[in-house]
Amino acid sequence: MTKPAVRVPLALVLLACALAGCGTGDGRTIATTQSTGRQSYAQGSQDWSGRSGDSGHPQMTAEAINSAAQNFNACIQGMWPDASRRGISRAVFDAQTRELTPELRIMDFVDAQPEFTKAFWEYLDLLVSEDRVARGKEILAQHRAIFDTVEKTYGVDRNVITAIWGIESKYSTMIGERYVLRSTATLACVGRRQDYFRNEFLATLELLQRGDVTPDELKGSWAGAFGPTQFMPTVYKQYAVDFDHDGRRDIVGSVPDLIASTANYFKRNGWETGQTWGYEVEVPKNFNYLLADRGRQMTIHEWERLGIRRAGGKPFPQHGARAYLMVPAGSQGPGFLMLQNFRVIMRYNPSEAYALAIGHLSDRLRGGEALLQAWPRHERALTMAERSEMQQLLAKNGFDVGEADGRFGSKTRAAIRDYQAKAGLVPDGFASTVVLAKLRGS
Ligand code: CA
Repeated sequence: MTKPAVRVPLALVLLACALAGCGTGDGRTIATTQSTGRQSYAQGSQDWSGRSGDSGHPQMTAEAINSAAQNFNACIQGMWPDASRRGISRAVFDAQTRELTPELRIMDFVDAQPEFTKAFWEYLDLLVSEDRVARGKEILAQHRAIFDTVEKTYGVDRNVITAIWGIESKYSTMIGERYVLRSTATLACVGRRQDYFRNEFLATLELLQRGDVTPDELKGSWAGAFGPTQFMPTVYKQYAVDFDHDGRRDIVGSVPDLIASTANYFKRNGWETGQTWGYEVEVPKNFNYLLADRGRQMTIHEWERLGIRRAGGKPFPQHGARAYLMVPAGSQGPGFLMLQNFRVIMRYNPSEAYALAIGHLSDRLRGGEALLQAWPRHERALTMAERSEMQQLLAKNGFDVGEADGRFGSKTRAAIRDYQAKAGLVPDGFASTVVLAKLRGS
């Protein structure tokens, strides 16, 4: 994606929000929009609530939204010079924008925050279901010839592309109902993401100008992601390919175009051919969990020297590759060493749970087994209110958590580790109910 921070795929319900917090201003911001993108399908016919957004952003107040809606036509027409510079004809611009109206319901999704969240393993269960594995294997068999050619051309693992397809749209069975042009036009003229969505709106017009995808096919999430692997219009513009050589880059109607475009995205974002995404690993007792940090990359060999072993006792196929250690449930659950290709998957969607689901589903599609180590299923995810409370209690105890807004970034995780160490708990940074209870008694 040209701007990874604002990639908007759709299939994960509140996932990155739950795990990393929403609207952190880094790459996870968009997870808010993505996640609520699914709600919009069920509620598509409803009207805007008329309420101000929770972000407190000046462009998200009810007054600002109403005022921007009044100005919608002028705003759209004001984009004509930009459209013209991009080669869009006056006839196409007029035909596509003449009857456009804003869909203000979308404003209810822009600032939406989940009240309840899921635990990491609940998302994995949901996304890597037996049904998704079985259907994915059928997809791989059905399109074997296309996958053969695409793999030869782009060097990207077919199982990963299939996993993306399966998780983004349940293999094309769960695609948004909103017209991409209307959604991106709304977001380009109303609310707090206008700069970003101007570009998406104009990219949508370019696509319509060329006739790559018909307007009827151009439906997607409320944030404008479309097609079975949920490309944003700018992503489409940059990465879509015409693999079946019919003159159109049609990721909606052509399976060869869809598969090759998705592979092209991965290739151009640094996919290493012939490499996996990472490994499930066993972390030894008394491990220094400060090392489990995305910013801390070491070679597999160095991790082995620290006592990290591949789960199930298999040897690592290579020792020189650099990886970081991820422990989503701290010392109570499995560890994972994440390689370069994991980071590439995270460019598709900057959520670790999403990327792990893609990696694990791809392994299962290849015939691999379920994860070997157990999750702490007696634990549950903290609610947003509990997360804020935990931050406030940490701050009260003198630990720096940044802003106590329920969003857990690296500062909060470090604060949890420091508190755990001081309180005689395993300092693994896992925000458990046990840590919260201990803090409440502190
Ligand atoms: Ca084509």
